[in-house]
Amino acid sequence: MTDALVLIDPAASTVEVADLGAPQLPVTDLSAHRGDGIFETVLVRIGDEVTVVSRNRHFERFCASASALGLPEPEPELWDRGLDTVIAEVRAADPNLTEVGVRYALSRGAQNPDGSQTPRGWAFNVPVDEKITHARAEGISAVSLDRGYDAYLGTKAPWLLIGAKTLSYAVNQAAGRYAATQGADEALFVSHDGVVLEGPTSNLIIRRGDRLLTPNPEAGLLSGTTQRLIFDHAAELGFSTEYADLGLNDVITADGAWYVSSMRTAVTLNEVDGNPITRDEELTAQLQSLIKAG
Ligand code: PLP
Repeated sequence: MTDALVLIDPAASTVEVADLGAPQLPVTDLSAHRGDGIFETVLVRIGDEVTVVSRNRHFERFCASASALGLPEPEPELWDRGLDTVIAEVRAADPNLTEVGVRYALSRGAQNPDGSQTPRGWAFNVPVDEKITHARAEGISAVSLDRGYDAYLGTKAPWLLIGAKTLSYAVNQAAGRYAATQGADEALFVSHDGVVLEGPTSNLIIRRGDRLLTPNPEAGLLSGTTQRLIFDHAAELGFSTEYADLGLNDVITADGAWYVSSMRTAVTLNEVDGNPITRDEELTAQLQSLIKAG
């Protein structure tokens, strides 16, 4: 698959195709050494038509993240153009492509000598790789890890940016590596006071009979586009939906549990801390189809 990059200039409202292999970002860019920026990763399905799954849900969250960080409000037409240009580039290079991710980001940019900043954006394609397809088919294991703050702290501490999708993912990456040292595929973050939150890059949904439950975003996690897509359509599958404070035992004793995110879609959570969880193959297939339909 060809790599495609577009540079998005919010001030000039321009989208320019660039070389992903060439240097593009000055080291003084605040995203590079402060993680000071925001991003989204969308799943694109390519069939007779092109479907950007949850396109609007992603863009709305992008705008909410920009607002939380005090970045200029992203212009919908500009970012749509950036996304569509990446999709057109990868399709032109590989007409048989059926699925691809596109990551778009807005950085605060470099600090100018007069103290002003020049935000810059970009978008590029990311593959649906073997790790993702394997997780979709087989599910994953997780180990619970303390997120280090109490549930609902974000409402009192907006500077923590809990719930914004920032480019500061070093902790999330470290949690994934730590989980691997424990023999697990993923981390499951739990608040310091015992409320289950999310994975480092996915939300958790559990089934109890005909109810689907997910942790309350206000408890201190990123409100997921995939989780909301599922909840918006759950009634069509015969399920009611609830935001709830869940403990680890609720997850372990559930009638099914899933990690849901844009690229993974819905993958079964097979065990937590070595405790097996019931696998619901039928609902897994239904959720994956629902998400891919966008
Ligand atoms: N939680 C975190 C911390 C994430 O980074 C992500 C996505 O990357 C998610 C949840 C799932 O969000 P979405 O379904 O919008 O991909």
